[in-house]
This record gives sequence, C-alpha cells and structure tokens, in this order.
Amino acid sequence: MTKVLDKDAIREKYRIEREKRVREDGNDQYRRLSELQDLVVDPYTPVKERAPVTDHVTFAFIGGGFAGLVTGARLKQAGIDDVRIIEKGGDFGGTWYWNRYPGAQCDTASMIYMPLLEETGHMPTEKYAHAPEIREHCARIGRQFDLYDNALFHTGVTALSWDDTKKVWLIETTRGDAFTAKYVGMGTGPLHIAKLPGLPGLESFKGKAFHTSFWDYSYTGGTPEGAPMENLADKRVAIIGTGATAVQCVPHVAKAAKELYVFQRTPSSIDARNNGPIDADWFETIAEPGWQQKWYDNFVENQSQGLPQEDYVMDGWTEISRRIREKVMQLPMSEWNPETMMAAFEDADFEKMEEIRSRVDSIVQDEETAQNLKAWYRQLCKRPCFHDTYLQAYNEPGTELVHTDGKGVERITENGVVANGKTYEVDCIIYASGFEVGSDYTARAGFDAVGRGGEKLSSHWDNGMRTLHGLHVNGFPNMFIVQPSQAANLISNVPHNIVDHANTISAVVAQAESNGFSEVEPTKDAEDAWVDLVLSGAGMVIGSTECTPGYYNNEGKGITEKNRHGLGHPGGARAYFAHIDAWRKSGEFKGLVFS
Ligand code: NDP
Repeated sequence: MTKVLDKDAIREKYRIEREKRVREDGNDQYRRLSELQDLVVDPYTPVKERAPVTDHVTFAFIGGGFAGLVTGARLKQAGIDDVRIIEKGGDFGGTWYWNRYPGAQCDTASMIYMPLLEETGHMPTEKYAHAPEIREHCARIGRQFDLYDNALFHTGVTALSWDDTKKVWLIETTRGDAFTAKYVGMGTGPLHIAKLPGLPGLESFKGKAFHTSFWDYSYTGGTPEGAPMENLADKRVAIIGTGATAVQCVPHVAKAAKELYVFQRTPSSIDARNNGPIDADWFETIAEPGWQQKWYDNFVENQSQGLPQEDYVMDGWTEISRRIREKVMQLPMSEWNPETMMAAFEDADFEKMEEIRSRVDSIVQDEETAQNLKAWYRQLCKRPCFHDTYLQAYNEPGTELVHTDGKGVERITENGVVANGKTYEVDCIIYASGFEVGSDYTARAGFDAVGRGGEKLSSHWDNGMRTLHGLHVNGFPNMFIVQPSQAANLISNVPHNIVDHANTISAVVAQAESNGFSEVEPTKDAEDAWVDLVLSGAGMVIGSTECTPGYYNNEGKGITEKNRHGLGHPGGARAYFAHIDAWRKSGEFKGLVFS
C-alpha cells in the first residue's frame, strides 16, 4: 500500500532546513583555490620547457576537454588540418584530466556521456565508466584525430583580441605565445575553478591539504585506477563537503584511512547507482551506424514530457521524467493545466525523496547518522547523486559523519578542523568544496575576448549573456563558444550539448572555407531575437529560491535578471536540438553573415 504523505509537513520541513542554510554572503563565502598558490600545482604531469609560439593556425580552440576534442575532431573530419588546442593541464581531458580522485566516475550513462564512441569504436566497459577510462578516451580522440602535435599543454590563455585589419584573432598565453588564428573556439568548462570555503585559519593548517581536483597520490598512496591508498592507514583525514565529488571519494578514503571525519553542511540525495559491466555481445547488437545519435535522441525524448518512449538508458535521470509523466497520466485530460502539471511534478518528487530517505535507514546502521544523512529538499534542488557504497561507508568503524546542521565548518586551525564548537585534529584535510559557478563567464575563463572595435565580451554581456544559439556572438567574428546556456541546456548530459555545437561549428567553418569567406558573424537582429526567445521561457525549477542554497540556485539568491540569460531554449532540449538540426540542414545558416 502506498504511504500517504503529509505534504504540508514535508514542505514545512524543507523550508526550515533551507532557512538554516541561507547566507547573506552567497557566492562570496568562497575563495578561489588559486589564492593558496601551493595547492594549485599540477600533481600529474611535469611542466615541459618550450619556446613561445608565434605562428598562424586556421582554428585555435581554448580548452582541451570534451569541447575542444570533439570540435577538433569534427573540424579535422571537415578537412581543416591545422587545429590547435590550448590547454591548462598537461594533457587532454579537461575535468577528467584534473579530477582523478579515487572513485571518480561519470554519473550520466557512458553510452551517452563519452563522446565519439561510434567514431572511435570504443565500447565503454561499464554503464558508468570510471575516470581513468574516460581520460584514456580523451587521449584516444586526441590520437585518432591527430590533435596532439599542434596542441599547447600547460598553457593558459591570457588575452584574445580580434584584428580587424588582418581578420585574425591574436592569442596570447602564460607561456609567452603570441600567435594568430582565423577562427577561435572556447570550451573553458563550467566547473573548472576550484573553490574553498572562505574559512578563518585556512592558511594556518600545518598538515597536508588538497582539493579533490588536485588529488595528491604521492601523499595518500594508491592510484586513480584503484590501488589502495596504503599511506592513509595511520592517518586521520577530514573531508569537507558532501556534494557529488565527496559522494564518490568518501567510500575509498573510509576504507583506507585510520580515521575519517566527513564534515557535512547539507546532505546530498543518494539514490541507487546500479553500475555494472557492459556486455560486448549486447553492444555489438546495438552498435549499428548512427547508434550514438539515436541514444542521444532517446535520452532527450525520455527527459521531455510527451508520449512514453522505450528508455535505452533507464536510470535515475530518465526516472525523474517518467514519474512525472505517470502522475500526469493519472489525471483526467480535462484537468491538465500548468498548475496541475506542477502539482504532479511535486507529488512525484515527494514520493521519490521519501524513497531516497528510506534508503538511508535501510543502509546506515547508526540511527542518528542515518537521520543526519537525509536530504530535505526537492531532488533537483541540488545535483542528484547515485551511489552504491557511499552510505555504507558510514558503517565503517573509523568513519564519522560530522553533521553541522547547515552551519558548516567554523574554522581551520594549525592541527585540524573546528565544527560544532569542537576541534577535530587531523593529519590531512581534503576539500571536496566544489567549483566556482556564480561568477561571470569572462571572470572564470581568465581572459576577456576583445572583438570588433575593441568591444570586450564582458561589456557585451554586461546585462547578461547574448548569443545566437548559445554559440555565436555579434561583434565577435569567427568566434564560437561551446557550452550549454542559451542552447539545449541539457545539464543531465553536458557532452550532448558539446557534440551538437561541434557539429554546428564544423558546418559553419566548412561553409566559410569552401566559399573563400574571411569572416562569419551573427547579425545583431538575429542575436537579439534569439535572446528574446530564451528570455520568453518561464524559467526552470532548478534555480528556485525555495531550494536549499547551492550553485544551482546562485547560493540561495535565485535567478537574477542577468543570470536568467543563461537559461536554455524555452521549449527545452528537444526543441533546441530540433531547431538547430533543421537550421544546419537547410544550409542557409540564417542569422549568420559570411563575408
Ligand atoms: P559541490 O559544490 O556540489 O559541493 C561542495 C560541498 O562543499 C557541498 O556539500 C557544500 O555544502 C560543502 N561546503 C561548502 N562550504 C562548506 C563549509 N563551510 N563547511 C562544510 N561544507 C561546506 O561540489 P562537487 O565537487 O561535489 O560537485 C560539483 C559538480 O561537479 C557536481 O554538482 C556535478 O555537476 C559535477 N560532478 C560530476 C560528477 C560526475 O559526473 N561524475 C562527479 C562529481 C562532480 P552545501 O551543500 O551546504 O553548500
């Protein structure tokens, strides 16, 4: 029998828990990891000396993660040979270069998360691949599409400016490079500036400290591939934060460390992961030409409202939409309207979150710890987490959850971490405190593109992002930005957004090159019309101020007029992909001017 939920009581509990966490300082509570210089040294690859580069390439791409790799691959397929990727890390991979913490794995199914599987012929080994396999896949793309020779690693772009006389972009870097490119792409990633809680005493700690994206295996022992971290056997370790990253690494540290204290401000919702190997025989049956695009489309269809489809991925992401659909279908059609739809969404959410909370009780042995691990907010208020051993880690004898009931860690001392008025002496502090999100794009990119007539991108976007299709910017010819905002905004599978933008870039560049054009740029009218369309949307449930604070809702401050510009197509991902597919196929490139 279905349990009858007291919805008012749950709403009230959500409100109380949220109120505990709202802070006046919002995003300003954090500090950039780079402010603590000795914590941002690349622990994975030694920096190689090289002479500055001063030549010219057809296409330069800033960022060597999925965006740069897939765009590079598509350009090579379109016959553009000199593509140069500029990357801060010592190799390709972007987020997967840096995030080598134990247990790191994708949380969207590999079949749709790992790009260019069909082109490379790679079969993911697991439904949710682990980080070393994804990193190796990045290298595979780099090798197969010959992107290594021209790449500049351990190189950050410091300046990017359009030369309207020569019709080229000038790119300057941290390594003294000053070269030109006819076209430039940017794929600097949404989550690449590591942040720390701005705690008093941060610099005073005398033990070992690192951020999860700079995991120091020379200290912990072990490897990203899963070798045990034997050096932690006599260590007391603190992990600060319980977001998606902590959820993946806590079980591994819990097994390795003598003592582990996990400092929690807000619990994540932890649903089942159900990871498992991919069967090669099964894979062969589905790997027909065009299979990955079919899977992308199927995932999008299953994330959209409408007639139920066969669900290829069948996981927690598609379940969210399935549950809402089922609730709506229980209503007589005559009662379908925006209010009843939102109520159906809320009902589905209440039921799911109750299940997730009950799951904690069924796994965690200590009753108080179990209570404290329960998430009291709607599932999409924070990144939903899925894991099969995170909650079990709290049954390990040496692991303690330090629940701060929304207050967080108070300060760091020479010897440890202070929370709830108590000092926890530790040898090592691991910051699982996430990445900067709320700041402006140009502030995170580390450079500010200067376009036609000396206009800065930050000025063009002073009142919010302005693009055509999330990709082209008026006044910034031959420039492309690869990211999900003002486009599909499919956050449950970011690589799909990237692959689609790469397809558009290669089509646009091929059109320009085959016709001998030197410039391509969106008109102001096309950009204005696109931004108006984006802003005509009702907004999203994600970002609601009714949610507990986090980066999804601008740390509780909600969507401002400026960051509302970061929404996606008002019709959702399905509508965006359909629009852009038709736009590309028409061959007219409406809204762009080639000259
Ligand atoms: P998050 O920003 O999600 O988590 C940061 C954590 O630090 C939160 O639990 C936060 O608490 C906590 N925190 C901040 N300040 C304090 C404090 N003073 N005291 C105690 N705790 C504090 O970062 P993550 O690195 O976990 O994840 C970032 C994103 O990266 C994810 O949302 C996801 O998009 C992506 N990711 C994807 C993965 C994948 O695909 N496999 C895996 C890991 C991450 P509070 O919640 O209260 O703010």
